[in-house]
Amino acid sequence: MATKTDLLKKIKEEVLNLKESPLYSYRTENKYFPVIGEGSHDAKIMFVGEAPGRNEAKTGRPFCGTAGKVLDELLEHVNINRTDVYITNIVKDRPQQNRDPLPEEIKIYGPFLDRQIEILQPKIICALGRYSMGYIMQKFGLGNKVEVISKMHGKSFDADASYGSIKIVCLYHPCVAVYNPTRKDELKKDFEILKNV
Ligand code: URA
Repeated sequence: MATKTDLLKKIKEEVLNLKESPLYSYRTENKYFPVIGEGSHDAKIMFVGEAPGRNEAKTGRPFCGTAGKVLDELLEHVNINRTDVYITNIVKDRPQQNRDPLPEEIKIYGPFLDRQIEILQPKIICALGRYSMGYIMQKFGLGNKVEVISKMHGKSFDADASYGSIKIVCLYHPCVAVYNPTRKDELKKDFEILKNV
């Protein structure tokens, strides 16, 4: 039987060869890597960001740049080890100039995230930012509960996955505190919900 590692490797191979992606040629021309995800294959918590930035595309690792430093700090604040969780993005390749992901990019990469969720079966999915929140809430039939992220951050929702009940936690994207460090306290407070769920 294929292991979780085998199944995740297969996703990596498929994304590597995803020539139909509008981001494929940008990746190969710049010698970037796709960013599949990183962390424990037994994680109870999965964090889902938006898309890789430059540092991530250069290394193939999610959240390893400035937004990653903020994420590390937020995890530390709630005593969660980065190695105990799984961190990924909806879009697996870097969009040009770190622009927001386009609907067609979310559409092409979303099924890979769906498979990662099925493989890892996290009990808690933390959506980082509005794109991730929109995708995850919609995927679990909670699209009608979606409001602007300024109203949703720090809230959790019960949902049914194919493998059992889960919680979806909506959080601001860590880059919010990169552009405005005074907002870090607000993000820290939101992360405290992870102590309760
Ligand atoms: N922002 C994201 O959404 N994901 C990353 O991996 C890095 C920055």
